[in-house]
Amino acid sequence: MATTQQMLAVRNPRSGKVDHKIAVSSRAEVAEKAATLRANQPAWEALGVEGRCAVMARWLGAVKAQAMAIGEADAQDTGGCHTSYLQGFITMGNIGGWLEDAPRAFAALDYDAMSTAMPSVRVQSQVVAYPLTGVISPWNAPLMLALLDAVPALFAGSAVLLKPSEVTPRVIEALFETVRQVPELAGVFAYVTGPGEVGQAVIEEADTICFTGSVPTGRKVAVACAERLIPCNLELGGKDPCVVTASADLERAATAVLRGAVYATGQVCYSVERVYVHRSVHDDFVALLVEKAAEVRLNADNPRAGHIGPFTHPPQGAIVARHINDAVRKGAVLRSGGTVEDIGGGLYLRPTILTNVDHTMLIMQEETFGPCLPVMAYDEEDEAVRLANDTRFGLTASVIAGTAEEAERIGRRLNAGGIFLQDTFLTFAKMRTFGTDSFGWSGYGAPRIGPESLRRFLRRKSLLTQTGEVADIRNDHHLGEGAP
Ligand code: NDP
Repeated sequence: MATTQQMLAVRNPRSGKVDHKIAVSSRAEVAEKAATLRANQPAWEALGVEGRCAVMARWLGAVKAQAMAIGEADAQDTGGCHTSYLQGFITMGNIGGWLEDAPRAFAALDYDAMSTAMPSVRVQSQVVAYPLTGVISPWNAPLMLALLDAVPALFAGSAVLLKPSEVTPRVIEALFETVRQVPELAGVFAYVTGPGEVGQAVIEEADTICFTGSVPTGRKVAVACAERLIPCNLELGGKDPCVVTASADLERAATAVLRGAVYATGQVCYSVERVYVHRSVHDDFVALLVEKAAEVRLNADNPRAGHIGPFTHPPQGAIVARHINDAVRKGAVLRSGGTVEDIGGGLYLRPTILTNVDHTMLIMQEETFGPCLPVMAYDEEDEAVRLANDTRFGLTASVIAGTAEEAERIGRRLNAGGIFLQDTFLTFAKMRTFGTDSFGWSGYGAPRIGPESLRRFLRRKSLLTQTGEVADIRNDHHLGEGAP
């Protein structure tokens, strides 16, 4: 008997209207897709890194041809404007970068030498891929955050089963039009759709998991992976601080801090979420910030003009409003913005600057994920460091000071994986060079970018050959034997 497939309505973040729907993958469909991927994976791995690069280069060509359509789908999903059209280009950079880096990274992983501990034993060590990597991704930057893990996993020789957010499925549908054009890739890269339970089903099928999302969901994912004894890489939230010192160029600081906080409506894991500014320059800095914030335009009328789009996911607007109201109720002063506005069905918030804030407020403790800038004054450098480190998160932090030396001195004392000096939002500079670990509630696992990140999808396997005589147990001597 045929069963009716469950469907989910998808809302458009600009109009507020449901204009799309997705089918929820059943448990059986997830299992079937996983089984097909597993069956195809050995041939994919056997291609070797050079063979996989040849296939991925063809995929890159298909993505290039579709970059604008992918950007359009991302804009429909997220309400983003310039941020969406960048996604296709970032994807090309991601694939193109690995085309160059993967062969080098693999070469560095092989080992063939005599053992230093047992000189007659030859050690041949290689890496083998986890057969099936599960990727569970969020609604913010939905394309980039799915592919940041999926692309290196594929280069590593793993097959990938992706579960994107149900909030932003269109961009993944557009992406898979390009995947279907490359049959070898389509055999080892698939996606399933639906809510959290579908993510749980992926965990039940996979050999390793990469998850990007919130702390509460990350905790559930970690528990489910622990039950199955499979590795799990978590990229979670942040409450990233920025320290502005007395000697900083305030023009530069205000410009960098504003962009770092409101870019993509603040829906970026490494957004600036708290600012600590030296008391002697606090008022001047805030005045500059307010002046610059007044020039930031919403793009409600024209998605291709303006700077801030709507919230991608309406519940996020409610979380941000709750944080602002909590702060104001506890004594914070609103210097700009502050009200989530419904414009034509989309939820918008102008840059929201708050002063008189303290660490009893949600806006200084929990991830806000909106275009908000709570600014707090400090007197001593030690106090700035203490306040910046007073958080359970540790994704990124930034320091803007009068000299690079002063910024570095403070930066070295901050507890986070990425510390940006004399600017904010420098995460992309790490691409292809060095990834960073997340501290505390911001996640765990190996770095997700840079050559090291390939190791997340590989296990080491070693062949140990005895080239000399085998040991004879009758010649074994016990420590202490014959001792007086
Ligand atoms: P969520 O944690 O709500 O969801 C993330 C993904 O997990 C979605 O695909 C979601 O599906 C799925 N999911 C939900 N419940 C479960 C479950 N029980 N088991 C398995 N999967 C599940 O995060 P958001 O989508 O709200 O994303 C925003 C968060 O992501 C923010 O906290 C942000 O800081 C963080 N983030 C971290 C980054 C980093 O690199 N550190 C980068 C970007 C974002 P569905 O959406 O369909 O419910």
